[in-house]
Amino acid sequence: ISPKSIVDDACASYATLEKLNSRLKPVVDDLTRNTDFFSHYRLNLFHKSCPFWNEEDGMCGNIGCAVETLDNEEDIPEVWRAHELSKLEGPRAQHPGKSAHHEDPERPLQGKLGEDVGESCVFEYDDECDERDYCVPEDESASSKGDYVSLVRNPERYTGYAGDGARQVWDAIYRENCFQKSSFPHSANLGVSQWPPGPAAQDFKQILDAAGRQAQLEHQRIEKPNTPFVAKTGFEVEDECLEKRVFYRVMSGMHASISTHLCWDSLNQTTGEWQPNLSCYEHRLHNFPDRISNVYFNYALLTRAVAKLGQNLKGEEYTFCTGDPQGDAVTRSKVLAVAEQAASVPEIFDESLMFVNGEGPSLKEDFRNRFRNVSRLMDCVGCDKCRLWGKLQTAGYGTALKVLFELDNNSDDVLVLKRTELVALFNTYARISSSIHAIGQFRNRMADKIAAE
Ligand code: FAD
Repeated sequence: ISPKSIVDDACASYATLEKLNSRLKPVVDDLTRNTDFFSHYRLNLFHKSCPFWNEEDGMCGNIGCAVETLDNEEDIPEVWRAHELSKLEGPRAQHPGKSAHHEDPERPLQGKLGEDVGESCVFEYDDECDERDYCVPEDESASSKGDYVSLVRNPERYTGYAGDGARQVWDAIYRENCFQKSSFPHSANLGVSQWPPGPAAQDFKQILDAAGRQAQLEHQRIEKPNTPFVAKTGFEVEDECLEKRVFYRVMSGMHASISTHLCWDSLNQTTGEWQPNLSCYEHRLHNFPDRISNVYFNYALLTRAVAKLGQNLKGEEYTFCTGDPQGDAVTRSKVLAVAEQAASVPEIFDESLMFVNGEGPSLKEDFRNRFRNVSRLMDCVGCDKCRLWGKLQTAGYGTALKVLFELDNNSDDVLVLKRTELVALFNTYARISSSIHAIGQFRNRMADKIAAE
């Protein structure tokens, strides 16, 4: 993909990214499933409240809706209810606590992960807030408590979480994209007659409509995998809006990836089997090529971040699990195998184009703050499992952005990431890799379905 692939047309193809993924997926799956370090995550899952609205509102927007929701819940057997499906399973250890940490700073306590986990070095000092962070660190306050979760035992899949609560969170996430009105695009090269827009078009919805129209133009590219993949941001506008388009595409791509997983690992309510649900894919993704395009966009972005971080990961700063040299070496070799694959398609995404021209530099702070707000919004998700994966993936993209925009490859500066950031980054990469795979499978099934009609 060309170095200017964020904005320019030329580039690699969907097929190139899928080819990369066929090599990458086995190694990133191996890393995230088979190492203690990367198969567990520490986060504040239960102890933070939604900072934006009353959490009860997060479950349902109004009383009528709440009653209706409860009525519906009672109609279905207990075992299929959303709160049952959303429950977390497996070991979850208590955080040793800040007080213990402070009592004896020379001897950090080990976290207890439960008998069958075998993790011996789960405690780390990762509570400090760094101004370069794009996410709210999981342990930002002294009173916060961490929860340990096995990611393998709690796969991201269909949970039944839906309705006004889920809708409210997604709406709020997309509202974060509304940077100052004055800085919305005022000209563009969309190839549609309504453009350039009048003043009224300085409205986010119209911009999204424009993105939708552009997506239709991209549709053919998705249907014909060998045509160029355009890692641009959904619609062509001038460079000054690049940052906002990137923000939107990251969010939409994450949303589409979550949708892909809940369709791929879906519950057949009739048979009780977990299986791919083609109709779910058709309605949430196939009919919205822009969403699929944003998944590929995120794949390109994460690939670049992991490749860029690769050099740093070779250094001694990253020990992964001090106290267990053998396990450490195995984990390191698996991490480097992933980074090597990521680096095998050079020039996949050129982050140096961002935050440079026009209003770009002044947008960086805004961009970072908005991303932090999205990470805070995850505390408003009313389903444990969805909150877990929502938090992890937001942290993963936040880490990727930190690597892209705060790590200068031309300086000797080493960006040492916290354990939680590393785990989030590589698991988010594994998630998007799995989405690319699932989308490929779904696309074949859709083609079969259409051929049979
Ligand atoms: P939603 O997916 O809720 O979308 C709301 C609206 O956003 C749509 O009507 C559409 O206008 C727009 N939209 C949809 N997709 C995109 C996109 N990619 N880009 C731009 N706009 C879009 N459910 C599970 O079963 N398992 C999970 O693991 C899970 N995790 C979640 C994590 C988070 C952070 C949140 C907020 C929700 C999660 N959910 C999960 C719920 C799930 O995402 C949906 O909200 C739910 O299935 C209801 O879907 P929906 O069809 O109403 O549309």
